[in-house]
Amino acid sequence: MRIVPDLVLADGAWRADHAVYVTDGRIAAVDPAGATQPGDVRLSGKALLPGGVNTHNHTFQSLLRGLGDDLDFMGWRDRVLYPFSQRLDRDGIKVGAALAFAELLLHGATTCVDFFYLQDEGNENAEAVIDAAREIGIRLVLARTMYDWEGAPKRYRETPADAARRMRELIAAHRHDEMCSVQPAPHSAHGASPAMIRAGWEVAEAENTRFHIHVAEGRYEGERTLAEHGATPIRYLDRLGVLGPRMIGVHCVWLDDEEIALMGARGAALSYCPSSNMFLGDGITRVPELLRAGVRIGLGTDGGCTNNRQSVLEEMRMTSLLQRVRLLDGTALPAERAFAMGTSGGAGILGLETGEITRGRLADFVAVDLEDPSLHPRHDLLKSVVYAMSARAVTDVWVHGRRVVADRRLVTVDQAALMARVREVTKGWVL
Ligand SMILES: [Zn+2]
Repeated sequence: MRIVPDLVLADGAWRADHAVYVTDGRIAAVDPAGATQPGDVRLSGKALLPGGVNTHNHTFQSLLRGLGDDLDFMGWRDRVLYPFSQRLDRDGIKVGAALAFAELLLHGATTCVDFFYLQDEGNENAEAVIDAAREIGIRLVLARTMYDWEGAPKRYRETPADAARRMRELIAAHRHDEMCSVQPAPHSAHGASPAMIRAGWEVAEAENTRFHIHVAEGRYEGERTLAEHGATPIRYLDRLGVLGPRMIGVHCVWLDDEEIALMGARGAALSYCPSSNMFLGDGITRVPELLRAGVRIGLGTDGGCTNNRQSVLEEMRMTSLLQRVRLLDGTALPAERAFAMGTSGGAGILGLETGEITRGRLADFVAVDLEDPSLHPRHDLLKSVVYAMSARAVTDVWVHGRRVVADRRLVTVDQAALMARVREVTKGWVL
């Protein structure tokens, strides 16, 4: 297949009159287009960009959207998250995942991590999320959560031995799955015991995967980790021996200078979720300092009820704006950097060969309408994509070489039927 847009962001530069060749889900070449060929997918008036990589989400939370929008974190957790997540059966979990994936694709994201914790002591619920991703056609990293804090609902919890065994089984079941990778995700320093965190890390070591863990999201977490374990979160994880290149720390809002340096020195990565941090009033992660320390960074939306949008493009914009406001400096974080975090940076921290339009990468990309008012006037197109572009400009999306959005509509599922299912599952839900 040959896709011929007006412009393509390939190998780090905009190229006109180039064709993207796709074979077996990968980009075989990006070359000057030459004469029209039979079967060309011609994208007149459109530019092709790498798809967004969402490095942190809890997909079922899309069904909880709007229920507790103006609560603080504890109010949200105890009145919305815990009770309403109990209402979802396997089918509801799948509907929630499908809703999140649909919204992400329509907003130009082609990969999503689901940090998934409604296990019910098994892998069947996780498999329902994986089914939803396959049906909708998004690339998935199922970050299977390992949770054993007694204060959380029972269906989240497992023993470290059971969680590790199920983790290995799920990884084995999807070892050759081109669209889904499975990675361990001990919940956090407060949601997982030291034994559980170690168990997650050991599976990641044995299976050669990344692992995900929430770190220092709210200020209370650092105080709690210090009181319970005698060290702040990053120091504590280092003491456990898990702070290293495999680790993706989610949020990392409340780190001191030494912890930032330690993350960089150990080669750990960050999944940064600016909108969610703002929505919950968590604080502002010190992104430029983390970059200077050598920490690799990807972006995440977090769950649909703590953002409340599902758009990596939006997170790129927020990443830059939030640092300007924190540092009182309009040059704090340029658009190119934010765009890279939302694409190749996210792919890099997850260990996926996506996030760039270049030979050999996975064929995950997005067409945007150059005629959209939000992209006018045209001076620096990449800056406009990050700061100005409306989600409406996203017209077509390919994942693994398959066109899953065409003319702003999902082509893999009936969008109206899916929204009807969402209304059915959430019918009668009130706080
Ligand atoms: Zn999270």
